[in-house]
Amino acid sequence: MEWSNKNKYNSFNSAKGLTYYENYKQIIKWLDGDNYLPPPIECNLDPVLGCNLNCYFCITQSYMKGGKQGELGLEYMINLVTFLANWGVRGLCISGGGEPSLSHVIPTVIQYAKLDLLMDVAFVTNAVYMSDQLIRALSLCRWVALSVDASNKDTYKNIKGKDRFAEVIYNIKKLAFNNRKTDFCFKFLILPENQREIYDACKLAKELGVQDFHARPCDFDKINIRGQELDIPAIHEQFDKCHELEDDNFHVYTITHKFDPEFHVKHDFPACLAAPMILPVLTDGNAYLCVEQKMVEKYMIGSCDPQEKILEWWGSDRHRQMMKDIVPDRDCSRCIYGQYHSQIEAIRTDSMCLSFP
Ligand code: SF4
Repeated sequence: MEWSNKNKYNSFNSAKGLTYYENYKQIIKWLDGDNYLPPPIECNLDPVLGCNLNCYFCITQSYMKGGKQGELGLEYMINLVTFLANWGVRGLCISGGGEPSLSHVIPTVIQYAKLDLLMDVAFVTNAVYMSDQLIRALSLCRWVALSVDASNKDTYKNIKGKDRFAEVIYNIKKLAFNNRKTDFCFKFLILPENQREIYDACKLAKELGVQDFHARPCDFDKINIRGQELDIPAIHEQFDKCHELEDDNFHVYTITHKFDPEFHVKHDFPACLAAPMILPVLTDGNAYLCVEQKMVEKYMIGSCDPQEKILEWWGSDRHRQMMKDIVPDRDCSRCIYGQYHSQIEAIRTDSMCLSFP
């Protein structure tokens, strides 16, 4: 059980992909040679290259090595989101590539995207630094993911390289109790070092007043995880106990459907078909094929400066060929779109007899 039956229509349920049916149909036509590719549903924007933590398992460590820094300016981001909203992009997810709360202009971008452009905005943060201005802006977000990954300060320091647990807990309390409209999600990436404290973290999340607790395995195939093996049965036992903590105001998600039984990535889909659902834009001002291929040069699709350039390369022959050349087992680690690829294939082959409800 990954979520309770009462709460099956939730954000982590990959069945959500079927609501993108019209996009799926157009992606299929485009892959078959049509010129039109619909705009992405979401832009994943990384405003800052740099972080105030040093998590050894961070999937962006390949391009954050050596304390590299960079930041997108306010004017660039305002122009970009204006273009995206006019183009038809619905969601703006501000994340990293670094820690987005380190951008002092990001609250202005959130307010502008939500209040002026009517986009849905989401924010992914380690919650170490929360200015009052950012806390106000986050109250406009549809959801905020809080990457905590520990239930106590010792584990936190061990896996994240810095002793900031107390500040994080203080900030989460402040966020959650000041705002009941945004979905705040306590995130827990399962690692060898924290595998015995999933339940404790879930209890802590409930005490802090957040709405959601989300646990999933770390991407063990991408990152060189140190230490001992995972005790999978013990983890499932904790998952079950976590679900017992659920009530109308607190939901638990123990997400495993994107992994094999040993919690390693699986590629049980036919090919890369769903990548154009999300447009990742990074601190170098460029867009990449997929959020799992950030800063990989061969997957850079094009520059977003000026924004109008996006229409020159989006849906181009090169973009299409880049996707067609992907061999998931060879080129990809975890794929967050796994089920979406399979859904597109089902629509392409009409394996569900779609004219017969
Ligand atoms: S991880 Fe690979 S298969 Fe999945 S969307 Fe990205 S490029 Fe495509």
